[in-house]
Parts: sequence; structure tokens; C-alpha cells
Amino acid sequence: MEKLQELIKSADTLKALEEVRIEIFGKKGVLALEFAKMKSVPNEEKKAFAQNLNIQKAKLTDIYETKRLVLESFALRQMMREDGVDVTLFNGINESGALHPVNETMNKIIDYFVSMNFSLEEGSFIEDDFHNFEALNLPKHHPARDMQDTFYLNDDLVLRTHTSPVQIRTMMREDVKPPIRMISPGSVFRRDFDVTHTPMFHQIEGLVVDKAGEISFANLKFILEDFLRYMFGDVKVRFRPSFFPFTEPSAEVDISCVFCDGLGCRICSKTGWLEVLGSGMVDPNVFKAVGEGYEDVSGYAFGLGVERFAMLIHKIPDLRSLFEGDIRLLEQFR
Ligand SMILES: [Zn+2]
Repeated sequence: MEKLQELIKSADTLKALEEVRIEIFGKKGVLALEFAKMKSVPNEEKKAFAQNLNIQKAKLTDIYETKRLVLESFALRQMMREDGVDVTLFNGINESGALHPVNETMNKIIDYFVSMNFSLEEGSFIEDDFHNFEALNLPKHHPARDMQDTFYLNDDLVLRTHTSPVQIRTMMREDVKPPIRMISPGSVFRRDFDVTHTPMFHQIEGLVVDKAGEISFANLKFILEDFLRYMFGDVKVRFRPSFFPFTEPSAEVDISCVFCDGLGCRICSKTGWLEVLGSGMVDPNVFKAVGEGYEDVSGYAFGLGVERFAMLIHKIPDLRSLFEGDIRLLEQFR
């Protein structure tokens, strides 16, 4: 029996232990043979013989179970060691993040205007009809509203179609009196989706208001030319008469094409010019809607799409790719 105990203890793999198990506990194993000897044991000794054998069997079973647990946990640990991943291993790649091109462009634009003494004003994404349309000279049923069809929450509330309502809210604030120099950056929402439009995009609008006669179109022209050269380098800038409900006169602002240096290419539709901004002198109807304190003022306003600037600066062909979150695109701006 001592020998059998040693045999179990010496098994060093689960496979070897299984062989030992069959040899000792199997149908034709050592214990079975011992129990078979009962027949030839005299009757009066049978009880003692069986008792002794059962004690031996219990001891062997105990040793076997202990050994099995040890070998099983050893095998498990070995498997984990072989299949595991060493999380402390240094992968040799040190990835650093970067701002999204839209944020980066937005920050650069904000930096310029803050350096020119403009204040930064913010508003909410949900606006009412008055601040988003009416006060900006876009009365109900006016066809110009179709240019900015958007997401209505009910008859009076919309997701703002531009950041212009922030201008109205700022002018109507108790603690704000002209002169005003402000920009309002933020997300805006329109029902568009194609290579140059997404339902959500970012705008920065600017507003300057002072006593009547203090602000002229020349001031507007100077600051926008200076700003566009800050953003795009040595480009030509031109102002083209246009229409916006909230400015009069209005002008769209173009820069000479940054892709072909104004020679004409596919991106500028062979014109040599790229449209980048809308601007104009604030329409007197806007000041009328704002009311008290704005009877005798003049001002200019402008607005731009941040994604469009990012596309032109980084030469990105499809605006929608800015919102797909594709790491292969974003990695290029690290
Ligand atoms: Zn071009």
C-alpha cells in the first residue's frame, strides 16, 4: 500500500495520473484484486479484512484527489502563461493625439478675432422663431427661409440654422450697450446632406455695432481681408454683391483659389475663385427688432462655415469625411 501511495505521488502529468488511477482503482486494478481475495478469507476475519481494505482505499482516494487538483491547477496556469498577453510589454509606438481639424480651424479663427478685441458669445442649440428668423428680417413665409430649412421641434422652436440669434440675444441683453464687437462660434443645423453639406456644421459669425456713421463698409472690408490672409496666406480677396435678409448691402467674399493659385481648376469650377464668407452692413430692420438703444447705430456682420475653411486649408475633398471619425483620416492631422 505504501508503494501505491508513492505511485500516485510520483505522477507528474494529468495523463500519467490517469494511468495510475486505472492501475489502482480500475475494474481490474490493484484494489479490485484485493477485494476479490475476500472470498478466500475465513469468515471470522472477513470483517477486519474489509475494514482495513476500506481504510486503505479511502487514504489512496484522498491522495489521488489532492494530486489531481494540484496537477489541474498547474496545467491551467501553464495554459494561461502560453496563451496570455503580457500587458506590461512596451509596444514601441508612442501615439500622441491631436485636435480634430474642425476644432483646430475654429480655434485659429477665434484666436484671430480675440486678438482684434472681439468678445466671444455663445447661445443655445434650440432657438425660438423670433431669435432665429423674425428678428433677423426673415418673417414667416418669407421665401428666404427656404435657404435655411431646418429641424422644427414645434411651431415655435427650431434647432438654430445659424449662430446669428446669438447676435440678437447679445444686443438685447440688459448689460450690453454699443459699441459691440463680438463673434459667436458654434454648431448649427440644416436639412442638407451632400459633399459640401452635413446636417450639423459649425459657424462663426461676427458683429460690430457702433454709433451711426462710426462703422462703414470700409471697416468690414479691412478686417475681412486681413483675416483671410491670416488664414490662407497671400491670397487675393474680392467682394461680390449678394443678398442676405439681415444685411444691406450684402457681399459674398471670395479668395483666389488655393488649389490652382487662381488659374482655374476643377475645385474652383475654372473660375479661379473660392467663396468663403458672407457679409454686409446690418439691415436697419434688425436694429428695429432689437429695439431700445439701437435707434441710432450702424454695424457690419459676417459669417463663415468652419468646415469649409478646414477643407480648404487641409485640401479635404468631401466635407462629410470630417464627421465619419475614420482614424486613417484623423491621423493625418497629428
Ligand atoms: Zn482652382
